[in-house]
Amino acid sequence: MAAESNDPVTEANHIWSDTLTLLKHNSSLTPRDKGWLEGVYPEGVFGTTIVLCVENAGTRQALENELRHPLLDAMKMVTGQDMTPAFKIAPRRGPAPAPAPSRKPAPQPQRNRAERAAAAAESPTIADLGKEQRFGSNAPVPKVPSTMPTPIDVATSAGYPMSRNKVARDPETHLNKNATFDTFVPGDSNRFARTVALAVAEGSGRDFNPLCIYGGSGLGKTHLLNAIGNYALVKDPGLKVRYVNSEEFTNEFIEALQNTTQNQGQIAEFNRRYREVDVLLIDDIQFLGGKEATLEQFFHTFNALHQANKRIVIASDVAPKNLKGFEARLISRFDSGLTVDVKPPDLETRIAILRMMASMNHSNIPNDVLDLIAERFTENIRELEGALTRVTAVASLSNQPVTRAMAEQTLQDFFTTDVEVKPTDIISQVARYFHLTFEDITGKSRMKNIAIARQVAMYLTREMTSLSLVDIGKVFGGKDHTTVMHACDRISNGMQDRQEIYNYVMELTVRLKQGNTDFKQKQQ
Ligand code: ADP
Ligand code: MG
Repeated sequence: MAAESNDPVTEANHIWSDTLTLLKHNSSLTPRDKGWLEGVYPEGVFGTTIVLCVENAGTRQALENELRHPLLDAMKMVTGQDMTPAFKIAPRRGPAPAPAPSRKPAPQPQRNRAERAAAAAESPTIADLGKEQRFGSNAPVPKVPSTMPTPIDVATSAGYPMSRNKVARDPETHLNKNATFDTFVPGDSNRFARTVALAVAEGSGRDFNPLCIYGGSGLGKTHLLNAIGNYALVKDPGLKVRYVNSEEFTNEFIEALQNTTQNQGQIAEFNRRYREVDVLLIDDIQFLGGKEATLEQFFHTFNALHQANKRIVIASDVAPKNLKGFEARLISRFDSGLTVDVKPPDLETRIAILRMMASMNHSNIPNDVLDLIAERFTENIRELEGALTRVTAVASLSNQPVTRAMAEQTLQDFFTTDVEVKPTDIISQVARYFHLTFEDITGKSRMKNIAIARQVAMYLTREMTSLSLVDIGKVFGGKDHTTVMHACDRISNGMQDRQEIYNYVMELTVRLKQGNTDFKQKQQ
């Protein structure tokens, strides 16, 4: 049933109204239980995930705990499938509920190629905005709104900010609270990984210890690790859960070692911190390869936890047997549990993921735009998300609705692969943009403005060239690849919730592509 209609809002309204009817007639629920359902309304359905808006954390908790089973049973009766509710805290709707939209979405007018091209020419693109604002180009810039929104306006205008992936890390567990099973869209590419991850989180997957999740970049490994931790804590808030990536693990270990002379307790404290946990989630383990002392330490931590039957989940970009720089004894420990992979999602799953992302961000994006993005980006969910973010932001910055034509143009501006950009061009351009020197960017200064510029340059190099993290580190004056990874994470997260970071990346991308096109044209 969930797949019957193409309109996620209409479908969700139908599912929810039938579900409510069943729940209201459920004699095992008390009036108090039923009271929690007041004011809950659906936002959309994406595959088997339904986004439900609740007024506050209390309601969410009640629906996730006491009401969980009746809710899931009722939705299964209505849809004939196992549904996953995703809860979003949102203000209650006004007293007059919006009329349920008709089952059939209004047909989208079909445009022919010429009309689409004309529309594309009319829509200002981020390149146009850049030209007008920054480049002083003489090229006619059609229909750029004369009152460009300031960053503050933009941040509060429709479709912005991108809140879904705002990383809200818990200071104690280091978990990203927003990465849950609710917000993880299942598909053939990840269903098995999701199922076993859920079993581990529930505590029923004792045989899967350790659980190793592997797969390419941007396919949901980190999301699943966090989802396991978050879910385990919902089930048992007393658990000690710790999420750590290999960079943090290494740094904490090195810090403890460095301090041994001053304070003999540091290593003991490190051991205590890691050996006391009930659920250890360790991310990007491949980066521990070749770090012998850290690996030795990790081996002991692993054994201590494993022997005590504590849950261990590991994420890696390759299968354990292909990990480089790891001793055989550790690999065989990993192999003693269960290894699952995540693959690139198929088209349907990509569309479902985009719909869910758009819905979580309150962005009203036509289906043909989501289809376009899903068709273009096939290998990586992070890129899928990046493309959606850019399309939404360009629309917001130019006060235009999101249309297929403007999306096509935006994607062309940002994601054309035929433009080759050299890392040194990126560094020079970033240095100029921030009024710094090339050496500042490749140097070691930790001054805030220099550090930000360097991180932006590293991020752009990662996005616009095919260099590996290790090679990028070399170009930037011999930095470690973990530093590059950290910079890329900082900027991609920063782009979600800090307008100025967003603008730096947007404007620099345009400049770099523009610079390159100019260069090519001059050569011809
Ligand atoms: P990896 O760790 O494999 O590189 P991530 O877990 O960081 O990938 O995922 C990249 C982005 O895509 C994150 O924002 C994540 O929330 C999102 N994502 C990945 N898989 C899914 C999914 N199945 N449903 C929804 N979002 C997803
Ligand atoms: Mg990851």
